[in-house]
Amino acid sequence: MTILLTGGAGYIGSHVLLCCLEAGHAVVVLDDFSNGSPEALTRVQGLADGQVTTWHGDIRDAALLERIFARHPIEAVLHFAGLKAVGESVANPLAYYDVNVGGSVTLARAMAAAGVFRLVFSSTAAVYGDQAQMPLTETSALGQPSSPYGCSKLMVEQVLADLCAADPRWSVGVLRYFNPAGAHPSGRIGEDPRGVPANLIPYAMQVAVGRRPELAVFGNDYPTPDGTGMRDYIHVMDLALGHLAAMEHLADHTGHHIWNLGTGRGHSVLEVIRGMERVINRPLPWKLAPRRPGDTAQCWADPARAATDLGWRATRGLDEMLADHWRWQAQNPEGYQS
Ligand code: NAD
Ligand code: UDP
Repeated sequence: MTILLTGGAGYIGSHVLLCCLEAGHAVVVLDDFSNGSPEALTRVQGLADGQVTTWHGDIRDAALLERIFARHPIEAVLHFAGLKAVGESVANPLAYYDVNVGGSVTLARAMAAAGVFRLVFSSTAAVYGDQAQMPLTETSALGQPSSPYGCSKLMVEQVLADLCAADPRWSVGVLRYFNPAGAHPSGRIGEDPRGVPANLIPYAMQVAVGRRPELAVFGNDYPTPDGTGMRDYIHVMDLALGHLAAMEHLADHTGHHIWNLGTGRGHSVLEVIRGMERVINRPLPWKLAPRRPGDTAQCWADPARAATDLGWRATRGLDEMLADHWRWQAQNPEGYQS
């Protein structure tokens, strides 16, 4: 079938694109390349056969969306396009509400006008806010996200829930990602952050490749076994396959569905550093730094609902994630500019 993938040139979207092609789907990509690369699309097409049509444009452009839906027999939409930098969202909240919330509303309106009601949305574990009780289930109380970015994702979840309540034709899957990392094992596609990486693993990779002198560990006085923050890192290929499973499930399940996509296991910052050192086979320079404002001590998923409903579970662990991420980084030290 034909799938519209918004943000398909980005980190997660490009891996999902590859999985869609491998599953035999035709894919229409809509991306404004503000944080994605046309090179990612070229490389995906070097890894898999199949039909990709690319539209360079903005998800907020209603006329463009109308043209795309008129031109292609789209049956489902996987919606990745959006802004994702937490710090930038604090400095420029309007851009985040405009692109993430406004863009999603424009997309949903265009879908309904075209008679397309199957949507998978990229949300985040940040909607749970700061919780003491782990693991997080989809029924855990929602917290106050610590940034406009997190708030924008929570708002879209609510918009989509309201839409499903108002119109029974909708089938919506909200996927709450934990911490995506890793890359396709070919090393041809991967995460290519613009500017200084905000996340642990991409930052550590740039230290390992010599682009940055050392990693700062943000606090070692959290109530965790070694005092550093714990997260549920999930391999981007596992995450990508979760999207296909959700999309298939939605074909015969209407309504609003939420699934955690995580492994169910937390790893501390120091465990990630030790894993990196095993992969690069040398010490990784790091120093202790103060806590980062807004950080939570720990966050990991209960992924049982996705296993039961979708038959999906993450199969790749931290070492494989770091090895695959490192292969991409080592082969492409400057990302797609290399
Ligand atoms: P990314 O920035 O690599 O990909 C997003 C893509 O959307 C980029 O190619 C960008 O050019 C495109 N885009 C941005 N604004 C657009 C617009 N207005 N119109 C059209 N295209 C636009 O990000 P990613 O890491 O691949 O994340 C994908 C989605 O998953 C995002 O919605 C993000 O918020 C969400 N998410 C990501 C993470 C993570 O850690 N990477 C975690 C939770 C949720
Ligand atoms: N972290 C760190 N140094 C960095 C980036 C992150 O010590 O340069 C820590 C951070 O405090 C958290 C964990 O690594 O405990 C994961 O952070 P990341 O930003 O990757 O994910 P998020 O906090 O958004 O879940």
